[in-house]
Amino acid sequence: MSLRFDVLTIFPDLLSSPLDEGIIRRARQDEKIEVAITNIRDFATDKHAMTDDRPFGGGEGMVMKPEPLTAATNQVKGAGNGKVVLLSPQGRRFDQQVAEEFAGLSHLILVCGRYEGLDQRYIDQQVDEEISIGDFILTGGELGAMIIIDAVTRLLPGVLGCAESVSADTFSRGSLKYPQYTRPRVFAGHGVPEVLLSGDHARIEQWRWLQAVEKTKKRRPDLFATMEFSSKEIVLLKQHGIV
Ligand code: SAM
Repeated sequence: MSLRFDVLTIFPDLLSSPLDEGIIRRARQDEKIEVAITNIRDFATDKHAMTDDRPFGGGEGMVMKPEPLTAATNQVKGAGNGKVVLLSPQGRRFDQQVAEEFAGLSHLILVCGRYEGLDQRYIDQQVDEEISIGDFILTGGELGAMIIIDAVTRLLPGVLGCAESVSADTFSRGSLKYPQYTRPRVFAGHGVPEVLLSGDHARIEQWRWLQAVEKTKKRRPDLFATMEFSSKEIVLLKQHGIV
């Protein structure tokens, strides 16, 4: 089963290059995902193809009109039951858990705002959920949509080879990732931790776990506070001065 993304935007060219490289390109070629870009402007009804207008009540900037957005959304929805997600700094914060949730869907419609935002009547009638990619303001939703496509696609079965596996990623196990090393054994006078050369897989696994927990505690106390440990793990963490 593949996941279909529809992206509604007034700048369709913005997404073409990131969709055409690396793992996302391969996932499209292998039909793990399908991505269709729709230009909201194609659904404008007036002769100047206007997709925005001045806000009622006055004030700064322009607001995206509800009619072209609604017509574009209805077209991509078709008879299906796609989830309509509006990229918005006012939405639920996107994170790995939301990515996992979206990876279970079959059709995601990503609506990219521009200007000051969208007419509220469109949001009330057509949008299932608003999603923010962080507490900052972008010029438009397109890069946010691309972030969602990227993070969700790599979670789909068969998209990543073992060289890029998901299971040991930061966040997949509730912690940040342990430090990693590759050849050469000595670089700029610095070697790699001896345990990684030992061939002792149990010891390596334990070292990596301790490193991951310690790093999470130092860098992301909020994440560390949500981690749960068995009594055996707590003994180990105490032995290493981590708790
Ligand atoms: N005036 C709006 C506000 O204060 O909430 C910001 C509008 S922003 C310049 C234009 C569009 O970019 C938004 O409608 C939204 O689609 C997108 N956008 C901006 N920041 C975003 C964020 N952090 N997450 C998701 N989308 C964002």
